[in-house]
Amino acid sequence: MKKVKYILIILIFVLGLAGGNYYYNIFLKTNTKFNKDYIFLHIPTSSDQNQLLDSLKNYLTDIPNFIEAAGYKGYLDNIKPGRFKIKNGNNNTEIINSLRSQNIPLKVTFNNIETLNQLFGHISLKIEADNRVFPISNQSQSIIDCLVGTAESLGVRIWTECQVDHIDKQERGFLLGLNNGHEHVADKLVLATGSSRSGYEWARALGHEIINPVPSLFTFKVQDTDLHALSGLALDHAEVYIKGLAKKPLKQSGPVLVTHWGLSGPAIIKLSAWHARELHERDYHVEVVVNTLPGMSDEAVAEAIANYRDQHPLKVVADRPVFEAIPKRLWRYLIKRCDIDESLQWERIRKRDTQKMVDELHRSTHEVCGKGVFKEEFVTAGGVRVDEVDLKTMQSKICPGLHIVGELLNMDGITGGFNFQNAWSSGYLAGNA
Ligand SMILES: Cc1cc2nc3c(=O)[nH]c(=O)nc-3n(C[C@H](O)[C@H](O)[C@H](O)COP(=O)(O)OP(=O)(O)OC[C@H]3O[C@@H](n4cnc5c(N)ncnc54)[C@H](O)[C@@H]3O)c2cc1C
Repeated sequence: MKKVKYILIILIFVLGLAGGNYYYNIFLKTNTKFNKDYIFLHIPTSSDQNQLLDSLKNYLTDIPNFIEAAGYKGYLDNIKPGRFKIKNGNNNTEIINSLRSQNIPLKVTFNNIETLNQLFGHISLKIEADNRVFPISNQSQSIIDCLVGTAESLGVRIWTECQVDHIDKQERGFLLGLNNGHEHVADKLVLATGSSRSGYEWARALGHEIINPVPSLFTFKVQDTDLHALSGLALDHAEVYIKGLAKKPLKQSGPVLVTHWGLSGPAIIKLSAWHARELHERDYHVEVVVNTLPGMSDEAVAEAIANYRDQHPLKVVADRPVFEAIPKRLWRYLIKRCDIDESLQWERIRKRDTQKMVDELHRSTHEVCGKGVFKEEFVTAGGVRVDEVDLKTMQSKICPGLHIVGELLNMDGITGGFNFQNAWSSGYLAGNA
């Protein structure tokens, strides 16, 4: 009896030890493999498990262990996008806690930006009612002359009709080889190559990580000849979102324009920017939903339709839109999508037809089969990791003497001048460093 008791105690002890060891390995053992004190980990919006592991693979020693811990803690079902600080020596529990709750947004503050008044000192400008600024001449040449003139007065030499062919890091500074055979040596180098491929390659060769560049701010191709026939039609205020990308879709609102290839306008272009990466991953094949009457509830739309039917029983449904905000051509198009005959009178409209109309007005769904023509996108998302440059001087933290500015950085904005602001402000900071 005593023997059995001893065996039982030893068994419990061994099991306890094994369990403790397992717990230690999964949750408490250090799981980082970088040398710095800490790193910032970027998890893109709508990342799935594969993308998460792709982001982590360069920083963690034991990925299977991390997956196991994350599974136990329910983190894999709720991956959050953002920028997270992981400290050297963190264990899986600490890493998961950080990924769960310590999103540290990147603070970018641009100081000392020339004010509009100073620009007025260089060029005659006019400000339109909507705050857009134009040179009085209405010629873009005036802006070019201003910039070139200012550069010349500051002693800047500009070489034209040639390209930079290669950049070699030297012991002190950089050697730039031009495609006309000339070479220049520089102490400092500002890479401001926008979204050109050579810029990404040079930045990578100089030690930087490049977040895969993808187009942003573009229009949607929709294969629907009936829709194309509405080309030029504009809705002043619509709401749009992409189906199936997130539990709670990210809605964008504003004007929507119908074109001869699909959908455009500020609301669509903004939507493309917020989903640039997911759209790229889906090869631009998604469903976009348009709400033509965002200010009204389903019930209010159904009631307005029912009232109209009661008041105009003998009128033809397709002839006149019930709602002022809906142009006549669009109304006919939506009625056709409801499978309502174009000669049908209101008195023949049934409840299920009304429901179809509500659905079409509020949730008209279109299959996107591509993006607007290549080169028509306005900006590129992706580029050099922003945390690899010092945001006060735009100097590389990896390659001293190198400054990286503008669209080459993983920084992109929606329409409204934000991309120019990024290019000019970061250029200003680098120029002053
Ligand atoms: C049609 C269109 C409309 C836009 N409208 C707006 C808008 O209204 N508001 C807004 O904020 N943004 C807008 N943008 C985006 C904005 O233009 C860019 O974000 C901004 O110009 C980026 O500035 P950058 O200096 O970083 O790069 P860029 O302006 O692209 O300049 C990069 C320069 O580097 C040069 N270069 C590249 N490789 C080499 C090489 N090997 N040798 C020598 N030179 C090289 C290129 O020729 C180019 O001149 C628009 C873009 C497009 C395409």
